[in-house]
Amino acid sequence: MNLKHEILLIEDERNICNFIMTALRTHDYKASSAGNASGGLSAAASGCPDLILLDLGLPDMDGIDVIRNIREWSNVPIIVISARTQETEKVEALDAGADDYITKPFGTSELMARIRTALRRSTLSGVVSAPAENRYKARDLVIDYDRHIVTVNGTIVHFTQIEYKILTFLARNAGKVITYDTLITHVWGPFADSNNRILRVNMANIRRKMEQNPADPQYIFTEIGIGYRMIDNENLE
Ligand code: CA
Repeated sequence: MNLKHEILLIEDERNICNFIMTALRTHDYKASSAGNASGGLSAAASGCPDLILLDLGLPDMDGIDVIRNIREWSNVPIIVISARTQETEKVEALDAGADDYITKPFGTSELMARIRTALRRSTLSGVVSAPAENRYKARDLVIDYDRHIVTVNGTIVHFTQIEYKILTFLARNAGKVITYDTLITHVWGPFADSNNRILRVNMANIRRKMEQNPADPQYIFTEIGIGYRMIDNENLE
């Protein structure tokens, strides 16, 4: 049985559109495309795709507004395609409800990896009570949410309450970029200072405790100017 996932691409540049459509079909996705925001929004509403790839620079509407519009009625995963170098745009897209972003130019394998992660996350969001969900595992790192225990290579690692909160929020959203503001709001509340210095200090401590080489992390990656991304949960493969 092979139920093809449907992917909608909203992109106005013909070359990039052709490249992505070919890649999607080669990887056995059912793909359709729209060249502007209004066409994309109506295709999203009528076609109910499993995932949307959205270019932020569209001729008729700001991509951020397209995300906000879709989020009013759908939780479909949205991966933003951004040519823009400004990190603020990506942060804005993520905070508006995008699940991930990919920066032009990108290769097929990177695009496919992002799509697989986003589709898997959305498939699993309906089964949050599954037992495997109470445990995060990646390489030598295991987080037991029920017992509040974190081990690396079988050895218990002790974290402060704040560090544990940061770590588990990233782990529960593994594979997804979490912006600094989202993380700060989750850990310190909505009225926290959005200056991320204290977050960086805590992250340095977390890495010092669990990464073999904190300067070259293998569990929590920094997306410069945007936020953090934790390595995928192997329990959910
Ligand atoms: Ca464009």
